[in-house]
Amino acid sequence: MKRFRSTSLTARLGLLFALIATLTFAGVGTYLYQSLASQLESHDDIELLGNIGLIRHFLLETSSVQDIQDDPHRFVDVAAGRAGLIIILKSADGKILFQNHTDHGALSTLPVTPANAVPDKASLGRWTLNSKLSARTVSAWGALHNTQEQVQIIVALTDSDRMALLGAYRNEVFAAVFFGALLAALFGYIIVRQGLRALHAIAKQAQSITAQHLDRRLDVTAAPRELQTLLLAFNDMLNRLHRSFQRLSQFSADLAHDLRTPINNLMVQTQVALSKPRSIEDYQTLLASNQEEYERLARMVENMLFLARADHAKFVLNKQRLDASHELQRIADYFEGVAEDAQVRLAIDAGGTLEADPILFRRAVNNLVANALRYTPEGGVIQLAAQTFQEGIAISVANPGIGIKPEHIPLLFDRFYRVDDARSGSTSSTGLGLAIVQSIMMLHGGRVEVESAPDAMTTFRLVFPLVRNHGDLRQPDNAHKINH
Ligand code: ATP
Ligand code: MG
Repeated sequence: MKRFRSTSLTARLGLLFALIATLTFAGVGTYLYQSLASQLESHDDIELLGNIGLIRHFLLETSSVQDIQDDPHRFVDVAAGRAGLIIILKSADGKILFQNHTDHGALSTLPVTPANAVPDKASLGRWTLNSKLSARTVSAWGALHNTQEQVQIIVALTDSDRMALLGAYRNEVFAAVFFGALLAALFGYIIVRQGLRALHAIAKQAQSITAQHLDRRLDVTAAPRELQTLLLAFNDMLNRLHRSFQRLSQFSADLAHDLRTPINNLMVQTQVALSKPRSIEDYQTLLASNQEEYERLARMVENMLFLARADHAKFVLNKQRLDASHELQRIADYFEGVAEDAQVRLAIDAGGTLEADPILFRRAVNNLVANALRYTPEGGVIQLAAQTFQEGIAISVANPGIGIKPEHIPLLFDRFYRVDDARSGSTSSTGLGLAIVQSIMMLHGGRVEVESAPDAMTTFRLVFPLVRNHGDLRQPDNAHKINH
């Protein structure tokens, strides 16, 4: 068995949440890290410049170079106050007077700020110490108390302290990103699951809709707004299916019912005839009567077959251009005898051409005329007309008579529907005539309309769409305007 792989929407959205959270946290973390790094550096710089000021101050209080060497405690104090701080004092001739850090290698070659100037950030530079340690450094001259001698001050602050702090911060950011993403994925998963619960509810409802419960519908009001259009469309589809399903069940019930009557008639008549010996005339009468039933059955089966084929659109239409007046005249001639017997007249008022399959066209109009003949009272006139209008051409069959009550009108075109079984005459009527008319009109892309009221004219109208690709069939709309 072929199994289809499905991806979980919930899991996918959860992962997406995690990805977005990772990117966001990583972005924010990087920004904060950078800003902390630059803040720490500028803080260090200010401290370095401050140390220059402080040392200059101590130098002013020192009377000679020798005093620095003899009593360096104040400078030791300054250096001790801060880890990573390097202080070097050199005499003008390059002799080192004080240093708290011996492993510094070559001294920085930074420009030295004169004693009468205050070093600023521009005087700061970078100095790589022996142990590959990097440091920010600044150098300036400082005058002694006697103001004759000057001492070069070099102050440096190694990066190690700052780096350690930033390293710890970076680790925290990594941890925050990781756990944040994990939490986002988890919450995302829970929230999406909650949100999709509505879908599960809908699926459950849909599962309960079966052939036996086709009248059930999905609850649109309880569904989230985004799904309501989908549900409405689904319910509409169910409505259509339900209607077709009902029509289909009705159809088979009607079919069985309509087949039973002629078969029962045949059976009963045959049984009665066989119950005792009969004369030849009796047998002939029976066979003639049976033949009528056979014909009715055959007609019904043929009609059913026609409808089934039309339903599946297996019909290849042999469309031809037909002259409406000529066609209606032909039909009127065909019914002449029957009309005369019924003392009914057929009147034609037709013009125009249409494109249709001639056999189907005749069949549709024949069905309408056959109905009209059945319901027109003696002396009545059946009007056959053809009228071209904007939309197409309408072939109408109108007859006076009992008319049709409004409640029957929507059902007339249903298969087997008859307004009044007794009147339709059980032997000749199958109730399929108008259903066939409708199928034929659908095959032609047209439609059938009916207008009637009790004891009024009944008019059936077949509307065939306009034939557009034959310029000679119809004058262009503006032609007659120009003629005016
Ligand atoms: P069939 O045409 O298969 O022999 P039928 O004529 O009874 O049977 P339809 O042609 O489908 O079936 O017509 C359905 C019903 O519509 C008829 O039984 C009749 O009650 C009603 N009907 C049709 N045409 C007219 C009409 N011109 N005047 C009044 N009622 C009509
Ligand atoms: Mg009929």
